Parts: sequence; C-alpha cells; structure tokens
Amino acid sequence: MTHVFHRHLRHAPKLAVAASGMTFRDAEGREYLDASGGAAVSSLGHGHPDVIAAMHAQIDKLAYAHTSFFTSEPAERLADELIRTAPQGMSHVYLVSGGSEAVEAALKMARQYFVEIGQPQRTHFIARRQSYHGNTLGALAVGGNAWRRAPFAPILVPATHVSPCYPYREQRVDETPEQYGRRLADELEAAILGQGPDSVIAFVAETVGGATAGVLTPVPGYFKAVREVCDRYGVLLILDEVMCGMGRTGTLYACEREGVVPDLATIAKGLGGGYQPIGAVLAQGKIVDAMSRGSGFFQHGHTYIGHPVACAAALAVQRVIHRDGLLAKVRSDGEAFGAMLREALGAHPNVGDIRGRGFFWGVELVSERASKAPFDPALNLHVRIKKEAMAQGLLCYPFGGTVDGKLGDHVLLAPPFIASRGDLREIAARLASSIDAVVRGATT
Ligand code: PLP
Repeated sequence: MTHVFHRHLRHAPKLAVAASGMTFRDAEGREYLDASGGAAVSSLGHGHPDVIAAMHAQIDKLAYAHTSFFTSEPAERLADELIRTAPQGMSHVYLVSGGSEAVEAALKMARQYFVEIGQPQRTHFIARRQSYHGNTLGALAVGGNAWRRAPFAPILVPATHVSPCYPYREQRVDETPEQYGRRLADELEAAILGQGPDSVIAFVAETVGGATAGVLTPVPGYFKAVREVCDRYGVLLILDEVMCGMGRTGTLYACEREGVVPDLATIAKGLGGGYQPIGAVLAQGKIVDAMSRGSGFFQHGHTYIGHPVACAAALAVQRVIHRDGLLAKVRSDGEAFGAMLREALGAHPNVGDIRGRGFFWGVELVSERASKAPFDPALNLHVRIKKEAMAQGLLCYPFGGTVDGKLGDHVLLAPPFIASRGDLREIAARLASSIDAVVRGATT
C-alpha cells in the first residue's frame, strides 16, 4: 500500500526510475518516448549535462537563502536574462516555484496595483472558458472549467468567463478569422461594460490555450483587439504563458507572434525544463513603480521564491536554448511535425482537427467529422488513449471527456525541443496507432 496521496486514488501511477534524452524508463524496464514533456515541461529532454552541471555548481556554493535576508547571484542573473529577452516594456521578474504560484502572484499584483493607485473598487477578473490557470484558489477562480471550480465555487474570488478563441468550433462559416477575433473582443468589451468598467482588475488568458483545450492558437488580430479593449477601460492584460511560453511555440514568448505586450506575464514549466520547480511573473514597470511609490511592499511571498538552485537550473536551460538555436529548430521542425501529424492522422474519420504551433500540437477527436459531435464523455476516451499510448511506449497528454459537458477528447503533444525528426515521426506513428486502436475498441 502506498502512503503517497496520489491524485488519482483509484489507479496508482507506474514507478519511473530513470529518464534520459527523449526516453523514460519504468521499474519494469519498459521504455517510453516522451511526446509531451510531462505536461509541456521538459523542453530540453531529460538528463541534460549542462543543466545538471549548473545545479551541482550552485548547490556546492549556496543551496538556499531566504529572500527576506538575501538575493542570490543566480536569481539576479536569471532575472536579467529574462528581461533581456522579454517583450519590450517588461522590467521586473518575480520568481516563484511553479505555474499556479505565478498566476496567483500575478492576480495579487494586479489587484494591489489598483489599490496603490487609488482604485480599490476594482475587484473583478474576466477570463475565458476552456482555460486552465492552475489549481490554487485564485488560479482556479479564473480557470475556465466550471466542473473544476464547482466544489470550491462559494469560496473563489469573483470572475466572469467569456468565449475562448476556438475557431474549429466557434468561428462562423460567414466570418473571416479577423472578423471572428473582432467579435470575441466585442464580447470581452460587453463583459467589461456589464460588470462595470471601473470594477474590473484584469483580463486573464493563455496566449495559446493549452491543456484543457487541446492547443488553441489565436486567430490573427485577436490579441491586438483584446489589448485595445483592455486599454480603453484601464483593465490590465495578464497573459498566462506557463505552458505556451519559453520557446514552446517557436518564439520565447507566444505573445511575440501576436504583436502585443501584456501588463503581466506568467511563465513556469519550460522555464526550468523540469530540472527544478520554478515559475515567474514578468511585470511592466508601472506595476512595480506603483508599489514602490505606494506601500513599498508587494503583499505576497513564499519561502522558496528565488531559490538559488532553481534559478541556476533555469538560467542554464535558457542558455542552452539560445546557444543551440533551439527556437529556430522548434519553428522549422514544428512545421514538419504538423505535416507528419496530418499525414498520420489527417484522414482518420474520428480526427476532427489538428492544430498547433512550434512544438505544441493538439489533436481533437470527434465521433463524426461532419457534425463535429464529440464522443460520449462516458467512454472516457482520453483515459484509454493515455493507457494505450503507454502500452505502445508513448507518453502523450490526452484530455477531455467532461470539459463543461460539451467538449470532446483531445491529445496534447509537447515534445522536448531536442526531438529529432525521426523521434517526431515515431511520435506521430505511435499516436495514430494508439488512437485508432482505442477508437475502434470503443465504437465496435
Ligand atoms: N497556467 C497554465 C496555462 C497551465 O497550463 C498550468 C499547468 O498546466 C498552470 C498555469 C499551473 O501550473 P502548475 O501546475 O505548475 O501549478
């Protein structure tokens, strides 16, 4: 009997014993090709010698220093590096230990900003349906899955949810992508006006939707229109790049492609590449200035913020990404990966959509292509696909079934940036074979 409180209480996970490059090994000696980097975490794959060396060197010198007494060299250098490569306008980095913590800190930063500048009546967040921002209470409140919020609904901060940018299901046939993006921005504006523009703190969105939406890339112009709406009412824009940031889509920040700069951006996952738990909030100068002119203090903090070993690991990850030209690789191999997925899965009668950017792809399953009807959630297709893929030696990230009772199943792919074209081809082939086996079994 295990004494670990596993999240899935009815089926214990397999025991992982080692991982190297693109491959995981379990206690029974089985090997798995890592097609999802956990949940879009392991950007450099496993056991990267440069990251391990940087962590060793740091732990030998200084493993921990509490931030109420000290800063550390790796924290300072990492923040410099992140600002050097961040969208223009970002000036400060608040270091935390993961994605939910980053979102939580960003929400509190946004709220405190308005308190500092004399607008304490702003108490409301607007976010999107089918989004995921983490599992702490603040992050859960803005997250867009009603079923996930349900048990905690009475104790969450106030948030309203508008439509995600989901062209496959929600763009009308008589609309161009630009018109669709404009319509969504109008919906946001209506939500701000409905709430009362002076009471809204921020609009929160993943730049490219991740886990609970099967990779939703925004239509051209959507985020520019959103930025304009936010600016019109003094509402802050918080972009959550915990999953899609740090090179995952082929640019360091996904918002670079959208031509917008948020007021606050959250990053995690690929920041430390899985070598250490680390996340961060990037803030525009006006947020930090308001606090330094006002109370002089951000009313927040955790024991492990700015952890020296985590910062050293993240710095090493960032250096490898730049030194090895991995952003350009993700862009070009990402295109090729998309083509491989289309070739392997595009003709399958139960594959409705294949979409993505860089090394971030989603495959959406439907019971029928013409109507786009999802499979019955009771079939638990995503769970079966995960199991079958593992049996075929593939780690991918399926999700779905019960997303607000209407969305179907999809599979998220987020391979390490070091994946060769051969690895990518193998991922596409094993995924196609796993999906086919499960769908046939479920429908016959
Ligand atoms: N935000 C996004 C977009 C995410 O995808 C996730 C995790 O999947 C989080 C926040 C929460 O991050 P963490 O699981 O590190 O707390």
